[in-house]
Amino acid sequence: MKTPELSVIVPVYNEEAGLQALFDRLYPALDALELSYEVIFVNDGSRDRSAALLSEQYQARDDVTRVLLLNKNHGQYTALLAGFEAARGEKIITLDADLENPPEEIGKVIEKMRAGHDYVGTIRAQRRRSLWRHQASRMMNWLRERITHIRLTDHGCMLRGYSRRIIDRINAYGETNIFIPALGYTFAQNPTEIEVMHDKRFAGDSKYSLYDLIRLAFDLVTGFSVAPLQWLSFTGLLLSAGSAALFILLVARRFILGAEVEGVFTLFAINFFLIGVIIFALGLLGEYIGRIYQQVRAWPRQFTHTRLEKTEDKVEG
Ligand code: UDP
Ligand code: MG
Repeated sequence: MKTPELSVIVPVYNEEAGLQALFDRLYPALDALELSYEVIFVNDGSRDRSAALLSEQYQARDDVTRVLLLNKNHGQYTALLAGFEAARGEKIITLDADLENPPEEIGKVIEKMRAGHDYVGTIRAQRRRSLWRHQASRMMNWLRERITHIRLTDHGCMLRGYSRRIIDRINAYGETNIFIPALGYTFAQNPTEIEVMHDKRFAGDSKYSLYDLIRLAFDLVTGFSVAPLQWLSFTGLLLSAGSAALFILLVARRFILGAEVEGVFTLFAINFFLIGVIIFALGLLGEYIGRIYQQVRAWPRQFTHTRLEKTEDKVEG
């Protein structure tokens, strides 16, 4: 396979129910663009028939299809990173396997990239959500933007385009547990966002739990900014000042009013609150230390046990 213009990377985890529908739409959509492309499916340790379906598809279209089988489930972002390492295209587009983002929209992203944007993010057009959800996510976006200076209007939308240069930087970086669109945005020179259509997941259930989403938010903040650490010292400063004032007040009362026991429970409440702050602070420190640990240890993020691809160069372990 020579250098294609486009690499499409699709992470796949337990998607047997929807894969055929994806193949039926993705390939015609890409053929219609009349450019050279490759599709890289990364099977993220699926426990259903996904791997078998992918290898059938490889046999049907081995001119443009490549399949990576990871040794176990590592999560969507690690699967994408494995795809990035394998990708040969000049432009790299990521797409979810569940058809939430129509493959027919890929052309729009290509257009923007041809116009000179090295990162193209997407926003789901006319997204129907409850007012509460909408406001909550606006709040989160605002907060995240303040902390990390990263503009990601709709971080749930994974149809995104990256130039070869950005992908090379991401590959060289060797980070663990990262939020790829944010990384792409950080490395970009001329990023932009466009609106794309979206559908409901075609088949099966979302693979993300609430816990995963909270983890992602933590990763995003601690992975891209040390501002929380700075706030932490500031909070410590304010609390110490408050405690000192309280101490002076209590000593003064002791001399004016004599020994007193009222207010003990208030003190307890304040104490419990402060213990909560301390535990949170420890957890926050732990997030950063964990990152340092992972980075220093520099283990491979995943192992690709099998590659299905037509290639002259050797499979690496
Ligand atoms: N995915 C994956 N590994 C995982 C979880 C998900 O490769 O551990 C893939 C999944 O097959 C899909 C994409 O990542 O192609 C997005 O997952 P999902 O649609 O469940 O996420 P949501 O759209 O609910 O955010
Ligand atoms: Mg989805």
